[in-house]
Amino acid sequence: MLSKKKIKEVLDILDVTYPDARPELNHTNSFEMLIATILSAQCTDVRVNMITETLFKVAKNPEEMYGLGYEKLSEIIKPCGFFNTKSNNILKTCKILIDEYDSKVPESKEDLVKLPGVGRKTANVVVSTCFGEPAIAVDTHVFRITNRIGIVREDTVEKTEDSLMKKIDRSMWTKAHLLFIFHGRRTCKARKPSCEICTVRDYCEYYKNVLNK
Ligand code: SF4
Repeated sequence: MLSKKKIKEVLDILDVTYPDARPELNHTNSFEMLIATILSAQCTDVRVNMITETLFKVAKNPEEMYGLGYEKLSEIIKPCGFFNTKSNNILKTCKILIDEYDSKVPESKEDLVKLPGVGRKTANVVVSTCFGEPAIAVDTHVFRITNRIGIVREDTVEKTEDSLMKKIDRSMWTKAHLLFIFHGRRTCKARKPSCEICTVRDYCEYYKNVLNK
């Protein structure tokens, strides 16, 4: 596995490779980011952005979202898949925000993960993007990239997050998460990684051990 020094070098190279690395879910406040992230499970950011463009025009806050009710909400979010579960989770979450948080999004991960439809990944995205708290949200890309390169060697997203937090400086957590996502979307794709153009190929265990054996 890579040393902390090598991991830092990988991150520096990815930073140069993807200077535009940023959250790709469109939002204007923490409530919109929370809803967009719940919708993004098993769905692309591009599709979520198409849905939220319509959704946030009719529901900009927990009251308006809750007021849509199941029928209207599920009709709007249907294209993002799992609309039944997502609609129910969003409505329950909005009710809790209204009743317990004065219609605001809580700023702590501990409170966020108690909301229906909000797991560790979503909580990490919200606190890092909206509240400036360093966090590494491990999605399918971050899990795949960090295990392929040899930054970690873990079999679950939870263990990957814990391991990454030990190996990467806290100040770099949020940036690292974005860089791994961009690398996963643009170069190190799940089925066919583009190793021939990869800027961190010289560091990659998968490239050395699997592709060149
Ligand atoms: S060398 Fe290939 S497998 Fe390794 S990080 Fe780059 S694209 Fe992914």
